[in-house]
Amino acid sequence: MHAAPSAHGGIIACMTANIIDFESARVRAGDHMVRGSAAYGMVRAFALSARGVVQAARDAHDTSPVVTAALGRLMMGALMTGSMFKQPDELLTYIVKGDGPIRAMTVTANCEGQVKGFPGNPHVWVPARPDGKLDVGGAVGKGTLSAVRDLPGFEPYSSRVELVSGEIAEDLAHYFAVSDQVPTSVGLGVLVGRNWDVECAGGFIVQLMPDCIDEVVERLERNLASVTSVTDLLRAGATPTDVLCRVLDGLDYQELEAQRVEFYCGCNERRAARATMALGEAELRDMIAKNETAEVCCHFCGKRHYLSPGRLRELLRGDAEGR
Ligand SMILES: [Zn+2]
Repeated sequence: MHAAPSAHGGIIACMTANIIDFESARVRAGDHMVRGSAAYGMVRAFALSARGVVQAARDAHDTSPVVTAALGRLMMGALMTGSMFKQPDELLTYIVKGDGPIRAMTVTANCEGQVKGFPGNPHVWVPARPDGKLDVGGAVGKGTLSAVRDLPGFEPYSSRVELVSGEIAEDLAHYFAVSDQVPTSVGLGVLVGRNWDVECAGGFIVQLMPDCIDEVVERLERNLASVTSVTDLLRAGATPTDVLCRVLDGLDYQELEAQRVEFYCGCNERRAARATMALGEAELRDMIAKNETAEVCCHFCGKRHYLSPGRLRELLRGDAEGR
């Protein structure tokens, strides 16, 4: 009869898990990121699924498939990196500059799971790789990856590394190894469908803490060797938690948190007005004289903000009073 108490215990544990997981289940239903640790804290790990985030960037910038993949990978890398920050208003910006046809990509993320980004050239066509995959490395080319950490009230901190392959995941792993001296594995994948929409997108970052022992490193390397494609896992229905359980198999993965992720710009009329003021008084007076409406297009989200001649007059007056 010893099965009875254990079944009873099971029911209670299950109910408790349900109460705790109610909000979590809502978060996990859409694009989200998870964070956890493994091997008694010797490994820390992040993973996300972000189909909607990458699709939003694709819609905002009308990107060709290879640019959707490149920008999507960088945005997902930024989301996971941003989640390592502790200050809510700290921003992380990754800038990739390459000699390939995309030329450049700029993405910004915070620790709240919000990201935005734009490519230098959204309409790039390069032949697929021999394995049929989008040639992100070829579209990005050789160049640099810069990271800028920006906390209000402090000087921005920036560091830069050479690109390893332009495939983004390897470049980010190299960045963490060189800039932060943290051995890191990064997997990122964006699968673009025939209609150019994003079928799935996701990735993971796994980092070894300084006290990590050889056995853990060896097990992790074995696991990583068996995970050839993040998109294959996602397409088969894997959640970010499933991805980390696979990557950290046998290392006692413990999940700490799940959070929603989204493509979010935050540009508004006030910022557009500030940008317009930067044109200078003469230019503004000229536009008012010609009864022209100023149009400000946001690089990050493609949204257009319009300032009427009346609003421009207000701005000039406000500026004059401000002085
Ligand atoms: Zn915007």
